Amino acid sequence: MTNPSILILPGDGIGPEVMKEVRKVIDWYGTKLGLVFDVSEDLVGGIAYDAHGTPLHDSTLAKAQEVDAVLLGAVGGPDYDNLDFSVKPERGLLKLRKEMDLFANLRPAQCFNALADFSSLKTEVVSGLDIMIVRELTSGIYFGEPRGIIEEGNERVGINTQRYTESEIDRVARSAFELARRRGNKVCSMEKANVMESGVLWREVVQKVHDEDYADVELSHMYADAGAMQLCRWPKQFDVIVTDNLFGDLLSDAAAMLTGSLGMLPSASLGAPMANGRPKALYEPVHGSAPDIAGEGKANPIACILSFAMALRYSFDQGKEADRVEAAVESVLADGYRTPDLLGEDGVDPVTTQQMGDAILKALNATL
Ligand code: NAD
Repeated sequence: MTNPSILILPGDGIGPEVMKEVRKVIDWYGTKLGLVFDVSEDLVGGIAYDAHGTPLHDSTLAKAQEVDAVLLGAVGGPDYDNLDFSVKPERGLLKLRKEMDLFANLRPAQCFNALADFSSLKTEVVSGLDIMIVRELTSGIYFGEPRGIIEEGNERVGINTQRYTESEIDRVARSAFELARRRGNKVCSMEKANVMESGVLWREVVQKVHDEDYADVELSHMYADAGAMQLCRWPKQFDVIVTDNLFGDLLSDAAAMLTGSLGMLPSASLGAPMANGRPKALYEPVHGSAPDIAGEGKANPIACILSFAMALRYSFDQGKEADRVEAAVESVLADGYRTPDLLGEDGVDPVTTQQMGDAILKALNATL
């Protein structure tokens, strides 16, 4: 049996700093538990532009298509702000997602108990929260044609088109139902079938996929505006939420903020299964390259470490090991370790990126 493979793309800004801490966790698995990963590393974003004149070299894309999982840090920064749009660092990431056809974007909103006070909502509303938003990522209004700004009479008109095929809805619905089976077995599908035909089709197809193949999973439907209200009122009513690209963009950002800092938020983008049965997959923190703190040892590595935990769960079928990493994070937070982004009013001294990574390794050791 060959070892599972991971391509690491640290990228720009704090990307390499947080990825260094993830490497320690990956290596810990090899040393302590014999779970060895074949890890390779390459460039993406501004650093790739500096080396190759493009934010994603073809050879990097080819590697990404071959490995079992890609782990990315972050891309972008002020040095690249004036580049032509076609070679901006962010284009590298978008190209990667598009070429790998990663249609299901998984954004967990999980509240660690030690940080419950950090949320803008009341502690009892968010403590113990663990929901997953599945956002359709490769279609919908951000891609639909016609689009553009046209002249009509004596004024301009801005046009975007919401468009979904049955197969696009079908495949993302299946991802959501599969996920729900590994979690709380509940899916809530959100659209606006009251005012949008694409929403009517969305609801019909999700219901059909459910009735034919996932009748064991509890399914409900909600209008996306009502869903936004319910997310703020009582988010714990949800387990998995599946929704389109636009509503998912908004709802996942809102849900993420229920839990506190950007430095805590992982994500996964999954595509169709490869020959070995594993989905094509890209794991990355939600945050960007944070140029304001890059190189200062202030970055919180937890979002990136939790992204690796998602890889353990969704690419490598190691759900128990993902639980172990999440429990280690919970325990260091309970012990009061805080990078500067997690500092509240309580006056504790912050730890550095490296100290946070080391504390998580220590907590992992304590689980053996
Ligand atoms: P950002 O996420 O980089 O930073 C927003 C704020 O959050 C900053 O104050 C930053 O210091 C803080 N922050 C972010 N991650 C943190 C962490 N791990 N620990 C502690 N604090 C953290 O967003 P931005 O400032 O809007 O963008 C900066 C650059 O990143 C831009 O070039 C942007 O295009 C790029 N970007 C990239 C991605 C990505 O790679 N996926 C996502 C968003 C933005």
